[in-house]
Amino acid sequence: MRITMVGTGYVGLVSGVCLSDFGHEVVCVDRDAAKVARLRHGEVPIYEPGLDALMARNMAEGRLSFTTDLRAALEGAGAVFIAVGTPSRRGDGHADLSFVEAAAREIAQAASGPMVVVTKSTVPVGTNRAIARILSEERPDIPFAVASNPEFLREGAAIGDFMRPDRIVVGLDAPDGPARAAMAEVYRPLALRELSFVWTDLESAEMIKYASNAFLAAKVTFINEVAALCERVGADVKAVARGMGLDGRIGPKFLHAGPGYGGSCFPKDTRAFAQTGRDHGVALRLVEAVIDINEQVKARMLTKIAALCDDRIAGRTITVLGVTFKPDTDDMREAPSLTIVPALIGAGAAVRVVDPQGRREGERLLPGVTWDDDPYRAAEGADLIVLLTEWNQFRALDLRRLAAAMREARMADLRNVYSAEEARAAGFLAYDSVGRPGYG
Ligand code: NAD
Repeated sequence: MRITMVGTGYVGLVSGVCLSDFGHEVVCVDRDAAKVARLRHGEVPIYEPGLDALMARNMAEGRLSFTTDLRAALEGAGAVFIAVGTPSRRGDGHADLSFVEAAAREIAQAASGPMVVVTKSTVPVGTNRAIARILSEERPDIPFAVASNPEFLREGAAIGDFMRPDRIVVGLDAPDGPARAAMAEVYRPLALRELSFVWTDLESAEMIKYASNAFLAAKVTFINEVAALCERVGADVKAVARGMGLDGRIGPKFLHAGPGYGGSCFPKDTRAFAQTGRDHGVALRLVEAVIDINEQVKARMLTKIAALCDDRIAGRTITVLGVTFKPDTDDMREAPSLTIVPALIGAGAAVRVVDPQGRREGERLLPGVTWDDDPYRAAEGADLIVLLTEWNQFRALDLRRLAAAMREARMADLRNVYSAEEARAAGFLAYDSVGRPGYG
């Protein structure tokens, strides 16, 4: 099948590469000419484990190409995917649909015959119907079909998630129209059990994506709130989460207390979902609370850091380990570091940062920090280590060596990687984490 992918960001590029690996002939289109030029040279503009090799193989085998020319890319395509960004709109937090609507309009203008227009971008309920209207207004001569196919991949594990998804959700404009056959063909190589497909209507598919992300954000926020209480009562949130997670009805995932969720999806999707509720007169009070509490969690982390500095941050040297919103990605969108690091600098600290992949984006987003690639060197003469992203490189640090390098060995372990016992044994004067007893 010939497939066009519009947008080569984290989702569009991974989807395009994986679909070509299924054996489809995929042409990826982006309006960013510099990005397309790099892709054509086999350069992957983002950090996603395994993506470069998979992309190279499918390009070499002639199934994957990149262009800025939408008209040429659509020639003979059975399906075109829209995978452009849907960031938060300024002001009300709703999803900014201007990129999606522009892509739909451009597709309609460039198409020379019928095809299925599939929305992979995360879009609020009603958007796919709006896309159908745009298509028929622009090109009443072409009978486009529309499908909603939200994406659930996680950055850092995107290829595995795309190749072995828990489920594939497809919302259709007509139960047995051409979109169903085309979508079945797109995913046939996965040879999934029919059970893994959720065939539904457009509105339900759109709701599934937002409800899933809001639920996961709520789960993280729940354990973060429990963590705050654990600190007061002397309980250990890791033990609490383990005890909860072994219950099959709860499950262990997304029960790790930390500095608050961030990233390219949860913050914007919870805001957009809450706004959709308000627009329809149905207050999503739980989602509103999640958004609010998550901001407080980040502020609570700053209080912890200040306490470890005896409430005098000015003049301290602070080494931050990890600034991307999670490990194995270079994505910095709405990372907790973007709140915490500027606050430390604003309070007068000298901040050093180590992150295996965060520097490219981080140099622009975190002005005023000093970058290093070695945690031990970055700890030399420092007053505090803040462990903010649990990259593997930071999970097995020689704590003794780290403590010995510092001026005053103190640590804010905001991902609960180590323990107070380990820190004490290594010579740290003070240690704090999230939802567990600290000292110092
Ligand atoms: P991104 O910002 O990384 O990439 C978007 C790309 O689209 C950019 O390269 C941009 O140049 C291109 N683009 C914009 N308008 C275009 C147009 N008219 N024609 C051609 N190209 C155009 O975005 P992303 O992180 O890949 O997210 C895309 C969508 O997928 C969003 O709706 C997001 O919510 C959703 N999503 C993201 C993830 C994730 O982990 N990043 C996971 C699931 C779903």
